[in-house]
This record gives sequence, C-alpha cells and structure tokens, in this order.
Amino acid sequence: MRPSHPDAPAIEVRDLVKRYRDVEALKGVSFAVGRGELFGLLGPNGAGKTTLISILTGLVRRSAGRAEIFGLDVTRDYLTTRSLVGVVPQELVSDHFFTVRQALEFQSGYYGVRGNRDWMDHLLERLDLAAHADKRMHALSGGMKRRLLVAKALIHRPAVLVLDEPTAGVDVELRHGLWEFVREIHASGTTVLLTTHYIEEAERNCERIGILHEGRLAALDRTENLLSLLDERQVTLHLSEPVRTVPAGLARYGAALSPDGQRIALVVRGADGETGEFWASVQASGLKLRDVDIRRAGLEEVFLHLTGGRRGARPAAVART
Ligand code: ATP
Repeated sequence: MRPSHPDAPAIEVRDLVKRYRDVEALKGVSFAVGRGELFGLLGPNGAGKTTLISILTGLVRRSAGRAEIFGLDVTRDYLTTRSLVGVVPQELVSDHFFTVRQALEFQSGYYGVRGNRDWMDHLLERLDLAAHADKRMHALSGGMKRRLLVAKALIHRPAVLVLDEPTAGVDVELRHGLWEFVREIHASGTTVLLTTHYIEEAERNCERIGILHEGRLAALDRTENLLSLLDERQVTLHLSEPVRTVPAGLARYGAALSPDGQRIALVVRGADGETGEFWASVQASGLKLRDVDIRRAGLEEVFLHLTGGRRGARPAAVART
C-alpha cells in the first residue's frame, strides 16, 4: 500500500502524552523517524517504550498529542496506518493450535493479502522455519516462536517494521541471525523502529537512537553523536615494575591500583588536549609500562549517564528531533 503523504516522515510523534489513571507514562514526547531509517528506542524498564509503540500501532489510545505514520493519524486513519506497519510484540504467540504456515496464512487473510506464497516461503526460509512449517505452535521452542512473530509482522510487506524487544531472552546465535535479517529487511527499504535492552546491539545496528527516561526523551541523535557525548576513556596501565602507591600526578584521574600493584586503572575525560596532558603525567610519573589498554565510553555509559544511573553527570538532556 502506498503512503498518501509523500513528504511525511515514516513515523512522527509530537507532544505525545499517555496517562494510565495515576501514571503518566509519556509526558510529551516528540520525534520523527525518516523513511528507510533504522531507529532504536532505548530506555530503562517503565520508561514508556512499549506504550509509545502501542500507540503507534493502535493498541493503546493516546491522551494527547500527535502520532502519525506517513503523515496519517494512527487513530483517524487506523485501517491504513495499521496496514503500513508490521509489529513484532514482546509477548510470544498465543494461537497454539495453528501450524506455523496456517498462522502465516491467517495473518495474510487478516490483511487481505493473497497470492503471497513465494514471500511466505522466503520468510520461512530466511527465518529458519521452513522445516517447522507444519508444526503446531505449542510444539515450537521460544526462539522459533520469536522468529514466527517476525514472519507474521512482515507477511503483508509493511513499509514500517516495529519490533518491541525482538531479542529479549533469545540466545546469542539467534540474536545474531535476527539482527542479520532485520538489517536485510532495512536494506530493502523498510523503515525499522525497535526497542531493545541490549544497548550494544543498538550501538552496533541503529543509525539514530532515542533514549526515553521516565516518559520523556532524554536524548535523540545519531549513534556516533551520542557516543561522543561522553569524551571518556578508561585506561589501564600494566606495569613491568609493581608499585605500592599511585603516583601523586595521576590521582586526579581517579586512579585505582590493583592489589598486586601491577595495574593502574584510570578514567581520562575531555578532549584530545586533555588526553595529551594525561600522557605527559604518565611519563612524568616514572612508571615502567609493560602494556596499555584504552577503552572509549560506549553507549552503555552514555545511557547510564543520561538516565541518572551513574554519578559525575555532565551535560543534561540532549534532543534533536
Ligand atoms: P519495559 O522496558 O519494562 O518493557 P517500557 O519502557 O516499555 O518498560 P511501558 O511498558 O510503556 O514501559 O510502561 C510505562 C509506564 O506505564 C510504567 O510505569 C507502567 O507501569 C505504566 N503502564 C504501562 N501499561 C499500563 C497499563 N495498562 N495500566 C497502567 N499503567 C501502565
């Protein structure tokens, strides 16, 4: 189906609010996901991610604000927006007595799609379900059910794929396979919005990331820009001659000495100039180095920093919509 507003972003929410009795799950969230983007929504438990996705897919009614798919209102134009979106929910399947293939046929019928046998076979093949196509769902493993949910979401070839925690509770190999498939779907032009608790997966795969915290957007930017928010390196100096105390010149880097006196862990913040100063301090300390490990702060640290999970906070919220 063709979107009817050719210039509108794939997904747009403006000042979106959701109240459940006494809980305000979304407190005025605004952002847009461009056509063909792979966008990640991160946030601690209870941040409002599922609520936001449920509003976009018509499962939950917003209290205020706008929510649009290709410029169409998700409530007023429900039938159209619903058919433009494929959703992979968090919960596993419930229609136990269907076989895998019957479930996909039923889902096709729900969307009024016919003659899609080739696409169905392709999905079954790519999601490693072909050998299980005639099994009833109660006989599937958790990982197979998760893959079937992805196949069901894609059966009508939606323009937007929304995945709520697609890799939750899934083993490493399957997570890898699912990501490969999501990237493939994205590469074919589908817009992807997903939530995940696996921050490193979002860091690796998403082009832009929004961080929801207590119903508000704490940050929204390109992944590399978020990563540069914390100019921080964790440095470990491995010593060829053990020491008993940390040299005074390194104390300001939060230096921690290992019990055997052979390693010093430090945190170096700030831009390159400051890093140069740090190396000068190391040289002046007279330490004999055997090796050095340097690790830049990853999205996990940025996430904790923005959601208040760590002391020493620097900038406040960052949001570019
Ligand atoms: P998680 O990562 O744990 O899935 P989330 O970011 O998806 O969390 P939501 O499930 O959207 O968060 O919940 C946001 C807030 O709204 C929470 O405080 C939750 O308890 C509350 N909430 C969600 N659904 C309902 C509901 N049906 N009735 C009342 N409160 C709700």
